[in-house]
Amino acid sequence: MNVAAKMSPMVSFDIASLPTGLFIDGQWRSGGEGKTIDVLDPSTGDVIVAVADATVQNAIEAVAAAHKAAKGWAATAPRKRSDILRRCFELMIERKAMLAELISLENGKTLSDAHGEVGYAAEFFRWFSEEAVRLNGEISTAPSGANKIIVEHQPIGVSVLVTPWNFPAAMATRKIAPALAAGCTCVLKPATETPLTALVLANLYAEAGVPAGVVNVITTSKSGPAVSSMLNDARVRKLSFTGSTEVGRVLLREAANTVVSCSMELGGNAPFIVFDDADLDAAIEGAMIAKMRNGGEACTAANRFYVQSGIAKEFSRRLAERMGSMKVAVGYDASAQCGPLINPKAVERIAGLVGDAKARGAIVLTGGGPLERQGFYFAPTVLSDVPSDSEISSEEIFGPVAAITTFTTEDEVVELANGTEYGLISYVYTKDLARGLRVSERMDSGMVGLNRGLVSDPAAPFGGTKQSGLGREGAHHGILEFCETKYIAASW
Ligand code: NAD
Repeated sequence: MNVAAKMSPMVSFDIASLPTGLFIDGQWRSGGEGKTIDVLDPSTGDVIVAVADATVQNAIEAVAAAHKAAKGWAATAPRKRSDILRRCFELMIERKAMLAELISLENGKTLSDAHGEVGYAAEFFRWFSEEAVRLNGEISTAPSGANKIIVEHQPIGVSVLVTPWNFPAAMATRKIAPALAAGCTCVLKPATETPLTALVLANLYAEAGVPAGVVNVITTSKSGPAVSSMLNDARVRKLSFTGSTEVGRVLLREAANTVVSCSMELGGNAPFIVFDDADLDAAIEGAMIAKMRNGGEACTAANRFYVQSGIAKEFSRRLAERMGSMKVAVGYDASAQCGPLINPKAVERIAGLVGDAKARGAIVLTGGGPLERQGFYFAPTVLSDVPSDSEISSEEIFGPVAAITTFTTEDEVVELANGTEYGLISYVYTKDLARGLRVSERMDSGMVGLNRGLVSDPAAPFGGTKQSGLGREGAHHGILEFCETKYIAASW
C-alpha cells in the first residue's frame, strides 16, 4: 500500500523513515520468513506501516546476541553505564514532540497524554542512571563471630522483557533502564499493536552509546511461541512482563520449566472511594485523571467508583457533566481530550460490559455506546446505580466508562473494594486524614492514591498484590528485580 498517501497531515515526521525491522546485535534485519505485520492507526483504522514479523529462530538469535554482550556489559563500570542511561534520558526529552506524536499515532492516546508518557518514560532513565552507581551491598559479622557475611547484588543475566500496547514507551523503559543499570542485557518484545515507538527508541539507545547486543528488539505475530522459546533457553534468567493477568498466568507456567525469575505487572480493577467528607472538587479532578488518563486504557484506571450516599448524586452529576463534555477526536489532533480505543475488539468488549450493567439496572448518565465514525471510538460514559454483581464491576474495563455504586459505611466499602482477584491500586478521597490512612492500610492493593488520582512515579515502587502481579518496578526495588543476591562467607 502507499504509506505516504495515508500519512496524516497532523503528524510532522516522515512515516517512511521509521525503522520497521528487527533490532538484533545492533543491526536492523528482516524477519526470518520475510513476513510483516501491519500496524494500524486506531484513530482512522488505516495501516500506518508494516513491521518485520520475527520467527522463533529470530527470537533465539536475539537471545544469543544478548548473551554474547552480557559479560562485557556486566563488566562495564557503573559510572559508564550511568552516563549512557543519562544520555538516553536527555535524547528522549530532546525528541519529546516526535515521540509523543508517534505514540499517539500508533496507540490513539491524545497528544497531551502522549507527552506525559514520554516524560514519564524518560524519567526511568534518569532515575536508574542514579541507581546504577548506588547498588550497595552489605557486610556484617556472623553471630558466631567466625566469619564475615558479605552480600552483593550481581546482574541476574539475560532478560526477556514483554510489554503491552497501552504505554508503548514507558512500559519498555521501566524495564530496560533498571535492567541496564543492574548490568543485564535484554530482548524486548513490544506489543504487536504498538511496535513503532520501541523500534525508534532502539536507535536512540544506540545513539546514546548502548553497545550492540545489550538491547535487542523483536516484533512478532507469534508472541506465544517466540516468548516460550526464549524462556526455555537456559541462557535466559529473567522474565519481566507487563500485560494481562490471563497471559501472565501462561508465562508463569512457561517460566517454571527453567525456573526463570519473574516480575509480573498484570491487570487491575481499581476501586475509587469517595467519602461524604471529601473535597468534592478535588475528587472530581482526581476521578477525571484516574479514569480518563490514556482514555481509560491504563492498568491503574479507576474501574469501580464507590461513592458514599450523602454525596453520590452530586458526584455522579458532576462527573457525567465533565465526561460528557470531553472532545473525542483523532488522538494526534491537538484539541482531542479523548482518543480512540486500541482496536474494534475493545469497542465491542466495552459495549458488552455496558450492556450487561444496563440490563441489571444501571442508569446511563452520559454516553453509553460506540461512536459511529471511522476509527475505534467509544463515548465517555458514566453509569450510576451499578449493581456490584455486574460484569463491569469484576472485569477490567480498559476504556472511558465510569461505573458508580453507592455505599453507606466504611466497613462495607472496604469489603466491596477488596472483593476482587486484582490488587494493583485503590483510590481514597476523604478530608479526614486518620480515616484516609486507616482505609489505605486496609486496601488489599500494592498502591493507594490518597486524595490523588495519579500515583505513577519512577522514584516509587509500582506493582500489585494478588493476581495483579509479582515484584515492583521503579524506586530502588526496580533495580533489585534484575539482580541476583550473592552471599559470600569470608574469613580473613
Ligand atoms: P496482553 O497480555 O494481551 O499482552 C501483553 C504482551 O504480551 C504483548 O506484548 C503481547 O503481544 C504479549 N503476549 C500476548 N499473548 C502472549 C503469549 N501467549 N505469550 C507471550 N506473550 C504474549 O495485554 P495487553 O492487551 O497488551 O495490555 C493490556 C493489559 O496490560 C491490561 O490487563 C493492563 O492492566 C495490563 N497492564 C498492566 C500494567 C501494570 O503495570 N500492572 C501496566 C500496563 C498494562
